[in-house]
Amino acid sequence: MKVAVPAEIKNNEFRVAITPAGVHDLVAHGHEVLIETGAGRGSGLSDESYAAAGATIMPDAASTWAAADLLLKVKEPVQSEYAFFRSDLLLFTYLHLAAEPALTSALLESGVTAIAYETVQLPTRALPLLAPMSEVAGRLAPIVGANVMLKPNGGPGLLVPGVPGTHPARVTVLGGGVAGTAAMQVALGLGAQVTVLDTNLFRLREIDALYYGRVQTIASNSFEIDRALVLSDLVIGSVLIPGARAPKLVSNELVSRMKPGSVLVDIAVDQGGCFADSHPTTHADPTFTVHRSLFYCVANMPGAVPSTSTYALTNATLPYVRLIANRGWKDALRTDAALALGLSTVGGRVTSGPVATAHSLPL
Ligand code: NAD
Repeated sequence: MKVAVPAEIKNNEFRVAITPAGVHDLVAHGHEVLIETGAGRGSGLSDESYAAAGATIMPDAASTWAAADLLLKVKEPVQSEYAFFRSDLLLFTYLHLAAEPALTSALLESGVTAIAYETVQLPTRALPLLAPMSEVAGRLAPIVGANVMLKPNGGPGLLVPGVPGTHPARVTVLGGGVAGTAAMQVALGLGAQVTVLDTNLFRLREIDALYYGRVQTIASNSFEIDRALVLSDLVIGSVLIPGARAPKLVSNELVSRMKPGSVLVDIAVDQGGCFADSHPTTHADPTFTVHRSLFYCVANMPGAVPSTSTYALTNATLPYVRLIANRGWKDALRTDAALALGLSTVGGRVTSGPVATAHSLPL
């Protein structure tokens, strides 16, 4: 199969959909891999590194899209890419079609077969192609939080681990799932005093079994959130209710009673945010002040670390890419029920329930 990877052109997107290791793997399985020149530059991957792994470097986006049987991307296609759609194209990428009516129409009109990373789902309900980005955002959260705490960045001037004889920062993590656990691990590594709140007691038991004595696990409810937050120096919001907006767990009034200079990082801002005052910010201007606290609400945190994010994403996508390339998409979807849940459009029809509901289209 011809597997093609264009450069990402969405504003501030520096990831790329394959690494040289992925190229090497697909070529070893007898496939042809075509990479648009410069596609890996934002992630520190040169054309030469792809060519050395066996890829053919294409001169531009048009020739890359035109050569593809299977086209791999990171972000959903933007309007200028719709012209490349055709009925014999198979597209595998993040799509978020429920929020993208124009893209949904373009895919349906052109008859593209589109498989969305974000709806590939294992029988455990885990989302294997979203998890790597939650891990990245989670591990990044205490690092950006610690940075915002520095005096020159407008923070209270608190060093997270402290030094011998001083108090370390108190870090509270709301939601101990994939992102929250990753955040907790880095906060522990930085020497913070860490509390995790979750409504899922099974999850708290798992965290307790792994980190007993080093992390405090507390059942999440408004009383305990209040109690933890008024003592916190850094709060990381990482809750998720699948398919719903994030619950607002931290009111403006509660923030007014928090320590001056406390920092709140809302990872869940991409789902509306779990703090009442959250609104999406950018890497260029990531923070704003609420009462005497600083909020960090970047909706695309992995964008700050494209090199790590590219490897994390492609490690997770490659087994599915290999399966599709080896077996063809129909057989691959029959073989892998998790991948089958990613199918979003085929032959001008929507095949995803939530997308059909979002746009009042028949399934
Ligand atoms: P997850 O499902 O693995 O974890 C969510 C956790 O929240 C679960 O353990 C759940 O029990 C818990 N929870 C639900 N309601 C709660 C409540 N009221 N109090 C405490 N805990 C509660 O989800 P995840 O993969 O860790 O994702 C977390 C969030 O991070 C999502 O909103 C996701 O979209 C977002 N995210 C953001 C970025 C970014 O760049 N900002 C990147 C990746 C993921």
